[in-house]
Amino acid sequence: MGRALAALAALALACPASAADPETAAPDAIELDGDSWFVPGSFPPGRSPDGNSVILEAPNGLILIDTGRRLDHAVSLTTLLIMRGSSSGTPAAIINTHWHLDHVSGNRWFKMVSPETRVYATSAIDGALTGFLADSAAASREALEAGTIPEVAIPDVKGDLVTFENGLLLRPDVVVDKDRDLRIAGRPLSLRVAHRAATERDLWVYDAAAKRAIIGDLVTMPAPFLDTACPEGWLKALDAVAASGAQQVIPGHGAPMGMTALGRWRMAFSDFIACARGRRALDTCSAGWLAGAAEFIGMDGKRAKAMTDYYGGLIRSGKLDGYCRA
Ligand SMILES: [Zn+2]
Repeated sequence: MGRALAALAALALACPASAADPETAAPDAIELDGDSWFVPGSFPPGRSPDGNSVILEAPNGLILIDTGRRLDHAVSLTTLLIMRGSSSGTPAAIINTHWHLDHVSGNRWFKMVSPETRVYATSAIDGALTGFLADSAAASREALEAGTIPEVAIPDVKGDLVTFENGLLLRPDVVVDKDRDLRIAGRPLSLRVAHRAATERDLWVYDAAAKRAIIGDLVTMPAPFLDTACPEGWLKALDAVAASGAQQVIPGHGAPMGMTALGRWRMAFSDFIACARGRRALDTCSAGWLAGAAEFIGMDGKRAKAMTDYYGGLIRSGKLDGYCRA
């Protein structure tokens, strides 16, 4: 237990600015079945989202899929890892679905306590560290200096900058750039790679024994997070998920869903893309999303509208087209 406490202490010391912030504490984990756990990411008003995580029990330890952005999420994960039998509060292996900071930032904490933890991911993070993430870090520094970032958002922006500055620590130990069936910590899992989807290369996990697909940001709530996406590649990736044999899908943001719900989400997404690629007013496109995805958006309509207004503009401007090129 000594190392577990050391892990929690290290987490608390590493990021005092956002320590023990009840506003952003991840809600309790949900048991998916006897050996799989779902830890939802939070998305507090005015702040950056935290991605969902999944913990799988394996013969040789625990597997953690996605590690979140904020300290609160990492503390929730550490607590669950300890409860599920990891004396150090760290997993035997980490799988990252993609390099967005709301899914990989926690790698750093776990690797700090347990350098032997193996990280499985695509190599797309290498391009991101010198491209998208470097650009957004520069923009964030400028905005912080200019005082244009709302007070509530500042801790996340500062936290992301520290994560970016230590970005090399987020990279995979085992690069998975094409589909691979592996035994990770003794548990068979199929790692599938989607090219040019939510990012240049997304990894999703098919757990055949549980008939479950853990798909990262191939599904997000309350809107599709299109910042680094090729919309058409994303649609293709969703078709691969639908054809996988999965009976349940764990999205990167939002609650677990069945396959008919996934079909409805895909329909609303594809309608939104078609609308934004067309000539109708962008307002019509976001209204279409709000209607088609109402069951997933719940009370979050205002934010869903603001996000789809923004992403509709991004699609129509052609700014995402570069992400579709080989
Ligand atoms: Zn995400």
